[in-house]
Amino acid sequence: MNNQDQLKIISNCPVCDSRNFPSQIKILQERENSHLLYVQCRRCKSRVLVLITAHPNGISSIGLLTDLSSDEVIKFSTQEPINHDDVLEFYEQLYAAKKDFFEVI
Ligand SMILES: [Zn+2]
Repeated sequence: MNNQDQLKIISNCPVCDSRNFPSQIKILQERENSHLLYVQCRRCKSRVLVLITAHPNGISSIGLLTDLSSDEVIKFSTQEPINHDDVLEFYEQLYAAKKDFFEVI
């Protein structure tokens, strides 16, 4: 799959339906049959993660709106998942500070 094929798949903004959609396309991850792209709309500045996968019978794409920057996507994709200890530690910090969840987010 070349860059021209990728641009044909990402034609209209899913938020504002602008035809001149991408102002920024970054390839975040490339594998043999798939590409993870980060696309930002020229008009409304919405950000979309797009996973494009090539199959023997064609190409499929999945888009996901995000408020993350491309650097944040890379940062969080390389971190370990949250585990039970993380949740308990967070709860203990809230309890010690006498705050509830909605006060700290
Ligand atoms: Zn848009």
